[in-house]
Amino acid sequence: MSSLIDRFSRPINYLRLAVTDRCNLRCIYCMPPEGVTHLAHEEILSYEEILRFLRVAVKAGVSKVRLTGGEPLVRKDVEHLVEGIASLLPSLDISLTTNGILLPTKAEKLARAGLKRVNVSIDSMQPETYRRITRTGELRDALAGLEAALEAGLSPVKVNVVVLAHLPEELEGFVDLVRRLPVHVRFIEYMSPCGAMDRPYYVPAGEIMSKLVPYGNLQKAAPPPGAGPARYFRLPGAKGLFGFISPVSSHFCPECNRLRLTADGRMRPCLFSRDETDIKAVLRKGCADEDILRAIVRCLEKKPRDHGGLSSFAGRAMYQIGG
Ligand code: SAM
Ligand code: SF4
Repeated sequence: MSSLIDRFSRPINYLRLAVTDRCNLRCIYCMPPEGVTHLAHEEILSYEEILRFLRVAVKAGVSKVRLTGGEPLVRKDVEHLVEGIASLLPSLDISLTTNGILLPTKAEKLARAGLKRVNVSIDSMQPETYRRITRTGELRDALAGLEAALEAGLSPVKVNVVVLAHLPEELEGFVDLVRRLPVHVRFIEYMSPCGAMDRPYYVPAGEIMSKLVPYGNLQKAAPPPGAGPARYFRLPGAKGLFGFISPVSSHFCPECNRLRLTADGRMRPCLFSRDETDIKAVLRKGCADEDILRAIVRCLEKKPRDHGGLSSFAGRAMYQIGG
């Protein structure tokens, strides 16, 4: 049980840690169309700073960390960070969310470094739709990454699918995927980076569930490890599961156990909160461990009861916060 408890009696034990704001894709819902200005190298936390912060966070009660970004695999030698975390903090559950493009060269190294499981984001199983959504990506590269993760023995392997308007008509590819491979496909409701729901994008997860009915009788299933707020179902005969994550239509704030650290070292108490705590400034002024702990607690005290109907998002785009 975490010893970090917020004002609403929620135990907080999960940290989403963005290791970079850079990315090798340009997804339409994550990056602004006009392009992005990246943080300078000295603005992002070094691996030493991340390890120091994590050591204190784990002592305070964090038991799960997810590396994210931007695209975490574009940060140089990210497997060295994983190795450093795994050897310094063997009890910490380390996972990673990636677009999968670099997994063919990285999956084996990451598994050897101590990564146990991975989430791969693939929003369409149609090459043209995938290219349109990612602006620059090729579906075959992401699928090669998925296979590489399975071959490296990472388990479970989950596929994150942001539910966009095209999806109800393109479910067949994901049905084939869970029938063919032991991967868990999770449909995640689109969250608008601008606050108000962006109609061309938003489709409730329930609509996807009803569109799956013709493929077989979805049966409730036990969640795989690290399931978070998803509800899981199995199609008869399939190797993998379908999961539904509905932050918008049925938000899971009452059970929220998360804090976030951005690549430039700001701690966010909620994805939708602008109220950041500057951890980097604390780390860089030659602080004691107690100062880091105090900064974590300061952030925790600002954790809101809920995301306020998504009307207050975000001050930053998703690639800067880590999703
Ligand atoms: N680059 C990695 C990737 O794409 O998996 C990690 C970073 S990405 C910001 C983390 C997750 O957030 C991805 O699964 C992505 O699809 C999701 N995401 C980004 N923008 C989103 C949005 N507006 N609504 C819902 N999910 C979003
Ligand atoms: Fe990059 Fe991930 Fe954002 Fe797509 S969702 S642009 S892959 S950070």
